[in-house]
Amino acid sequence: MTSTPQPLLSVQDLCKFFPIFSKGFFQRKAGVVKAVNEVSFDLFPGETLGLVGESGCGKTTTGRAILRAIDPTSGKVLFHDQGQTHELSGLPTPELKPLRTRMQMIFQDPFSSLNPRMTVGDIVGEPLKIHRLAKGTELRDRVAAMLERVGLRPEHAIRYPHAFSGGQRQRIGIARALVMNPALIVADEAVSALDVSVQAQVINLLEDLQEEFHLTYIFIAHDLSVVKHICDHIAVMYAGRIVELAPTDELFSAPKHPYTRALLSCVPHPDPDIKMNFDLHGEVADPANLPSGCSFHPRCSECIERCSQDVPDLTTRDERLLACHLIDPDQ
Ligand code: SF4
Repeated sequence: MTSTPQPLLSVQDLCKFFPIFSKGFFQRKAGVVKAVNEVSFDLFPGETLGLVGESGCGKTTTGRAILRAIDPTSGKVLFHDQGQTHELSGLPTPELKPLRTRMQMIFQDPFSSLNPRMTVGDIVGEPLKIHRLAKGTELRDRVAAMLERVGLRPEHAIRYPHAFSGGQRQRIGIARALVMNPALIVADEAVSALDVSVQAQVINLLEDLQEEFHLTYIFIAHDLSVVKHICDHIAVMYAGRIVELAPTDELFSAPKHPYTRALLSCVPHPDPDIKMNFDLHGEVADPANLPSGCSFHPRCSECIERCSQDVPDLTTRDERLLACHLIDPDQ
């Protein structure tokens, strides 16, 4: 009998709402920004899930809420690691602290995410010190080994971040995340600030490290050509919700959701003779004042009457999750 593989991460109906307060002395609650709204997915060990969408769609907030960098408003985040299941969203800080070594984040901007007053050795070794996992010679050896593994040299440990290029600084950020021996890494626009040639090197490095350390990635990006290369599955987000989640090849070869198709129409084609036909118009929905029904309906070229009234459920079709009335099985 074969057992069903267990996901490393199960995200269930995750929500993150930010209250808006009125100006003035009493500061009454005037509204709410629905940054992440009922997001659910499973992520299996060794896989990469891409979270994509336009700026403000909630992908970064989703990543931060999963890692408890911010507290979710509601929902569950189940982290199955080393034979135990942890419900991260409600875990008190003392119980969360040891789990932080197993979940790390790589940030977008390698220029501002590294402390300019610390040497590279101190930056990479700091998490080991904080969690009391190594000190003295062992700490220096682990830092040197990790620097080598990400393509830097051990002697770089005594230099400061300003002495490095953008790509090298991102390697320092990766070394800092990996030195803790994590299982899950959330890479938030990890290559967006880099030149294209350097992007390719860093992506290749992330893929090599994933294979070597059996890492699981959530790869947050707005650039669809980047996620196509590295992700096994892609979740497309709009106005805080997942609207389509599918295996990468299927999403690119046969996008089903009108928003996914519109996003793909905006990906530049390498052949300059092929005329682009942009299919994405209008402004992104304001998460503080969402349109009724399907949030995408004011921009959707396939909108039907029902779309402005009912929020479409996220339903399963074959290997795909979709939230659109045109694909709703009850339609
Ligand atoms: Fe377009 Fe309606 Fe589908 Fe929303 S539910 S994406 S408005 S067709």
